[in-house]
Amino acid sequence: MRLAILSRNSKLYSTRRLVEAAQERGHEVKVVDVLSCYMNINMQQPEIHVKGDVLQGFDAVIPRIGASVTFYGTAVLRQFEMMGTYPLNESVAISRSRDKLRSMQLLSRKGIGLPITGFANKPADIPDLVDMVGGAPLVIKLLEGTQGIGVVLAETRQAAESVLEAFMGLKASVMVQEYIKEAGGADIRCFVIGDKVIAAMKRQAKPGEFRSNLHRGGTATLVRLTPEERSTAVRAARTMGLNVAGVDILRSSHGPVVMEVNSSPGLAGIEAATGLDVAGRIIEFIEKTSAIHKTRTRGKG
Ligand code: ADP
Repeated sequence: MRLAILSRNSKLYSTRRLVEAAQERGHEVKVVDVLSCYMNINMQQPEIHVKGDVLQGFDAVIPRIGASVTFYGTAVLRQFEMMGTYPLNESVAISRSRDKLRSMQLLSRKGIGLPITGFANKPADIPDLVDMVGGAPLVIKLLEGTQGIGVVLAETRQAAESVLEAFMGLKASVMVQEYIKEAGGADIRCFVIGDKVIAAMKRQAKPGEFRSNLHRGGTATLVRLTPEERSTAVRAARTMGLNVAGVDILRSSHGPVVMEVNSSPGLAGIEAATGLDVAGRIIEFIEKTSAIHKTRTRGKG
């Protein structure tokens, strides 16, 4: 196969591993920087150009689109889709998963466990919003935050209300969430490929911190999932329409709750914690599915 990896930087661990795994399995692979692509959008022959050359003849494309380039990145991916290239994750599914609130709404419609979550626009509604999610302590999240930045634990009602007022004053979109204290600063990253969790790790926040992101100093260890956790992760990925996803789950007293479904999950942490060849599993999945052009979200909005 000829594979394209949409990534801004070929030196990143995940990109390097995908290149390695593809080559090991006998495929030709090219790393394409989405921001270097420009497009000819027309009916007869949609094209993607890079520095005067036309990109063509790819069987499949692996999107590794960072949050900061979601808009342009998904447009380039959509162009690949229009050219008939099989996307590991479809552009619509990536856009869907990048919107935390939209994701929560879609997951809740499918009956997937979530922390109680609220969203409002007017400062006048803050007291009611805080009551709705069960009062303090509660978690406040900026909708456009990543890697734990923009996630705040408000221990008291007063703190919650003033932080919410401040964010709203800055016209930032925020959601409030029940604080899952019993998770003890740990979450579980489930790496889903197709309809299976192929790897999982537990991330524990450093002492004094409630956010378990590895970027925030968290540490990762192997974990055994319960059948309920497995099925929650797989259903969450399917609901978002993602073939490959990192589903983050908290162990709450009312069962597993999904915090986030990541469409470009990193490989470094999960491969280190589990010793598994996750990149190889991704390439293997593409081999199985791209030929028949099977993708769950094809044709759906
Ligand atoms: P980001 O997308 O920025 O990583 P998350 O929503 O995943 O933001 O939150 C970052 C971390 O904060 C999570 O990994 C988890 O450890 C912790 N966290 C987030 N929401 C809650 C919550 N409702 N209750 C308890 N801990 C939470």
